[in-house]
Amino acid sequence: MQQTIERPGGAAVRIPAGRLLIDGQWRDAIGSGRIAVVDPATEQQIAEIAAATAADVDLAVQAAHRTFESTLWQKMRPLDRGRLLEKLALLIERDAEELARLETLDNGKPYFVSKNVDMRFTVDALRYYGGWSSKMAGEYLTLSPFFDDGGTYRAYTERRPVGVVGGITPWNFPLGQAIQKIAPAIAFGCTVVLKPSEEASLTTLRLGELILEAGIPDGAINIVTGYGHEAGQALVDHSLVRKIAFTGSTVTGQKILAASAVQMKRVTLELGGKSPTIVLADADLDKAIPGAANAIFPNSGQVCTAGSRLFIEASIFDEVSKGVAAIADELKLGSGFDTETQLGPLISARQMERVSGLVASGMEEGAEPLSGGAREDRSGYFYRPTVLTGGRANMRISREEVFGPVVLAMPIHDVRQIKTLANDTVYGLGASIWTKDLNKAHLLASQIDAGTVWINTHNILDTAVPFGGAKLSGIGREFGSEAINAYTETRAVCMRLEAPEFG
Ligand code: NAD
Repeated sequence: MQQTIERPGGAAVRIPAGRLLIDGQWRDAIGSGRIAVVDPATEQQIAEIAAATAADVDLAVQAAHRTFESTLWQKMRPLDRGRLLEKLALLIERDAEELARLETLDNGKPYFVSKNVDMRFTVDALRYYGGWSSKMAGEYLTLSPFFDDGGTYRAYTERRPVGVVGGITPWNFPLGQAIQKIAPAIAFGCTVVLKPSEEASLTTLRLGELILEAGIPDGAINIVTGYGHEAGQALVDHSLVRKIAFTGSTVTGQKILAASAVQMKRVTLELGGKSPTIVLADADLDKAIPGAANAIFPNSGQVCTAGSRLFIEASIFDEVSKGVAAIADELKLGSGFDTETQLGPLISARQMERVSGLVASGMEEGAEPLSGGAREDRSGYFYRPTVLTGGRANMRISREEVFGPVVLAMPIHDVRQIKTLANDTVYGLGASIWTKDLNKAHLLASQIDAGTVWINTHNILDTAVPFGGAKLSGIGREFGSEAINAYTETRAVCMRLEAPEFG
């Protein structure tokens, strides 16, 4: 049943029914399992969604497989797949304010972020991959046979869609992550079963309504809500799913990689991070100090590339760390519907426990807070933006991903050690370097083991730029032209030609 919820500032948010989208139809899950939807700003339950079981996932995968094999889908012109994505982009633009309100309700992030970051990214990704749909190309190859049998050997390659894609997404950018899987999959001719995070599924369900309105063929995009260990695992284990496109934690990514090995499924894994922000003594501190704060605090630190280890040259350590702490102290926490709010709540009680526990362990091991260090004394999962100093590389807080608004500031005593300090982590997702000297910036960038290195900025993501992680931050790249490799297989066609009159 759909319902509407009122929020401060007169915002009325329509909540989609918690059903499953399978083969172009909304249906109830086969079992009776339901998952409570909790508003993280109030800790109140606001709705329920279906907890799909393996049987529901099977129906969704079968539908995606049928559509993938259908003449309609196989013969659809690439330009027309692109047009479907463009239609979806137009519908999301039309309903951007409604979708942004729903994202803010479900995830907690400020409305201006939902509207100006999440919705814009979503529309951009649809347009970007809509354009790619007609640009799949292979290669023509001349061969050098070992023998001369009078024939001429030639080959070409073509890119074939992998088949049914299982998309599994986290809760920090729910709609954006859903589109990040759906857009390249459809552009390159795959069909999809998407399982959003059980912590934030509402905008993905609303997306399902727009998918139907856009006239996307039944079964091409299916949405099953549910728990990871049940619905997610069933998707990973299903023999008709040829590829898993996963974004989430490293621990889950490792389980998915192990399970995918059995059927040799293709995987892309976008996982956790512990990204360094590196501020050199010659940086423009008027930009670097807010830049370092901006690297960690937006989305309440729940960003995979958040700059959670802040390395500062010793001569400017006090100025930069205190500057970042002063910004943290000023940030206004509150309901995402309050126009003054700069930071929303953490997503859940579980995330609050994790963030509080890691900060407490850091303090027990000798770290000291320059700002924050505790949750706010009110309902809602609000955690004060926190700057810690006095950390050492072997502490849990320096090594584990917090996924909260918490940064550990550490001095650099010898710039020749930066490579070692920055790379002293199991992760390799992002990094930023702040300096006025581009010689240093570029040479240092090439020493950092990370999928993305930013110079004098942080967290600039663009669908045109390949994104992904090194080491335990993942496998493969999404975005940009690299997504072609992620969603297609190469087929080589090799031929022998012989016609004496033509040589
Ligand atoms: P999570 O791993 O707990 O869950 C992610 C998704 O996986 C959810 O949909 C969940 O239901 C599902 N899942 C859980 N167990 C599963 C299993 N056994 N089989 C299949 N699916 C399963 O992660 P989260 O807490 O939702 O998200 C936070 C994490 O995501 C952080 O570590 C963050 O760094 C990472 N993240 C990475 C990126 C990136 O692009 N690298 C982006 C955003 C978030």
